[in-house]
Amino acid sequence: MRWSNKRSVIGDLEGCEVVRVLVGEEQREFTLHRKLLCDSCTFFKENIEAMPSPSTPGEGEDGEEEDSVLWLPSEAPDMFELYVLWLYQRRRFHTFMDDVIRTISPDECRAVRTNLVRLHLFAAVIDLPALQDLAMDALQDMYLRFDWDMSPRFLAFIYGDCDPEHAVRLRKWGIAMLAWTLHGADKAYILEKQVDRLFTVFPQLKADYGLHLEKMAQSRADVRLKNPQLRLPVNKLRNGERFFGFRQCTFHSHRASVGEGACPHTISLALSPTMPNYSSSAWKPREKEDTQSDTSNDADSDANADADNIISPVGDLNEISYLDLS
Ligand SMILES: [Zn+2]
Repeated sequence: MRWSNKRSVIGDLEGCEVVRVLVGEEQREFTLHRKLLCDSCTFFKENIEAMPSPSTPGEGEDGEEEDSVLWLPSEAPDMFELYVLWLYQRRRFHTFMDDVIRTISPDECRAVRTNLVRLHLFAAVIDLPALQDLAMDALQDMYLRFDWDMSPRFLAFIYGDCDPEHAVRLRKWGIAMLAWTLHGADKAYILEKQVDRLFTVFPQLKADYGLHLEKMAQSRADVRLKNPQLRLPVNKLRNGERFFGFRQCTFHSHRASVGEGACPHTISLALSPTMPNYSSSAWKPREKEDTQSDTSNDADSDANADADNIISPVGDLNEISYLDLS
């Protein structure tokens, strides 16, 4: 899916200062508004400002077109498409992802999943916790929609190939998913041997898994029922729902503590549904009298209010869906 070449997504470049970003070994080219990219995070600000000069009229005589080119050789172009989508349509990112998850096939969705995971890691590298959280929400929704299990390959990737600091949230979620998968009646048997092998290769995975089970036991949660695909807004936790899903912020990266308060992203998401309305066999609500707080959650948070203050060059897109499946 390419959003970066859609005028409806990125608006008009004419007369604007632009930056060309080359992504991946194949150097897929993205032409983006310089200021918007600069303002998105320190990583781009520093890298772009370190360039000799923007491509302004009058300075092009030297033919130094390369001056305004930034190359990200080790990132994936399809992941960067998602970054561009977020950059220009951040208020609508959630809705775009909702549409993608609802309308494309499981196979197509697997490709998007891979890129969401890469986006989550990229957001860690460039220090954008708010973007990580959006990527995580979309991942959870996607797994819920297709009722995917945690695959040994995914675990091997986040424990074998990723920087532990960057992958800390993906690991936390992966472990919760693994517990849920392994405690499902039929799946445990199929995966057991592969997981044993993973535990041998990655002792940290085994340790994290043990810790997770301990935490679940402490909070009297049943790992067979507590589904990490299901994220619950705080106001949904009163009637025993917490036994069937995780608090919305459990796998989020925002930092300062919000305690039991609202997720800082809730305001920006209020424009669109926060809970996917998929019918899933995994979602089995039942009434239970227990208002004990969810101790499995870190309750760490940070108000990423700035996410809403960035002005995209693209106008008001609220009423139109620009989902492009080409
Ligand atoms: Zn949150």
